[in-house]
Amino acid sequence: MTASAPDKSTILLIDDSIDMHRLLSVRLRGDHLEIIGADNGLDGIGMARTRSPDLILLDVDMPEMDGFEVLQTLRDDAATHEIPVIFLAGMTTTEDKVRAFEMGAMDFVSKPPDFAELKARVRSALRISFLMKMLAQKARLDGLTGLGNRAYIDERLNEEFAQSTRHNRSLSLIMSDLDNFKSVNDTYGHPHGDAVLIKFASLLAEGCREGDIACRYGGEEFAVILPETERDDAAEVAERVRASLEAVEWLVHPERRITASFGVASLSCVEAPSIERLVAAADSALYAAKRKGRNRVILAKPEGRRFSLSA
Ligand SMILES: [Mg+2]
Repeated sequence: MTASAPDKSTILLIDDSIDMHRLLSVRLRGDHLEIIGADNGLDGIGMARTRSPDLILLDVDMPEMDGFEVLQTLRDDAATHEIPVIFLAGMTTTEDKVRAFEMGAMDFVSKPPDFAELKARVRSALRISFLMKMLAQKARLDGLTGLGNRAYIDERLNEEFAQSTRHNRSLSLIMSDLDNFKSVNDTYGHPHGDAVLIKFASLLAEGCREGDIACRYGGEEFAVILPETERDDAAEVAERVRASLEAVEWLVHPERRITASFGVASLSCVEAPSIERLVAAADSALYAAKRKGRNRVILAKPEGRRFSLSA
């Protein structure tokens, strides 16, 4: 879940003037820019949806659907509303410019464009858009462990639940909580407590298979979303992480082991499946693991019964 600068940026030009398409493809073409084009608003919107360009250059004056209508449609669609748009306009009033900015246009370039200026504005828009994407990603990361945070897990659970419902696939969830974590903090200090959280996060990530999504749920609580996975396979992942944490010998206190408890549930365990019920089932299995003495994996059972995987 890290952002990296794109090797090549795709720019979509929506303009009814064939000359603009010709000029732009020659003048903007370079090692890192690919220019694609549409000569009317409707086709342009379609291409924005299917090609997900990094930037749109949008002509204001077009027959049938003008630039303002196109921009409004792009903004109303979740698939396109984050794509930055630079307006291209011939004769424009201040009112037009203000309206364009209010609708979310990133920049405004007069026609006919000075290509050196347009190029500079395109680069600047691409840079801003990249930074915004990076910020949005960062907002979903836990600063201490580098795993996804609570906002990220909520988002991914929604996506994966929708996918599994649509394609009738299984979905499992592991909820995990470090045992007696408060006493670790109290005895060895918060810096060591943080080191334990970081280590556990890395064991959790290592224990996951490709496609599993490990997150920090909050405090000393962690979660793993396991798409297309039945409960027993999810339990194997949990057991692997449980055993690897228990085996860690800590330099600060070699005499003391640190353990975690795990609750595992899958959609097939819950009646009338929903995200809330899946989380509740995994949570209640986790509490059962705590009650039974911690350092164990407990599986939610279909009728609400639970059983223990590890003693
Ligand atoms: Mg035009």
